[in-house]
Amino acid sequence: MNDCLFCRIVAGDIPSAKVYEDELCYAFRDINPQAPVHVLVVPKEHIPSCAQVTADNAALVAHIFTVIPQIAQAEGLTGGWRVVSNVGADAGQTVPHLHFHILGGRRLDDKMA
Ligand code: 5GP
Ligand code: ZN
Repeated sequence: MNDCLFCRIVAGDIPSAKVYEDELCYAFRDINPQAPVHVLVVPKEHIPSCAQVTADNAALVAHIFTVIPQIAQAEGLTGGWRVVSNVGADAGQTVPHLHFHILGGRRLDDKMA
């Protein structure tokens, strides 16, 4: 059994608030939102983080980056938004399955670190 939290969410074993889904990726609302809109976009394939993005899976990441603006538009983020992907301990990555945070719906903090 796959013990990766986001693989289990993608599989539907753990419930989530779905925002978008296609054959390659899945997007859902963060359980602990840090902004009025806080969506996580993940590849259905297990990739641990941005550190494991290679020429072999770059097309999947590029696809996700075509989906992100569609989600931002659907969420009404006309004033702008932020995309974040934490990698490893120093960045505070808590779930080792590649994910992109989409944050918006208010003026975001000026500092990113
Ligand atoms: P990270 O800290 O790895 O960049 O982001 C992980 C994110 O996953 C956090 O923002 C956290 O709130 C979110 N998260 C953790 N567990 C769950 C869960 O079971 N369901 C949902 N929807 N989000 C989760
Ligand atoms: Zn996974």
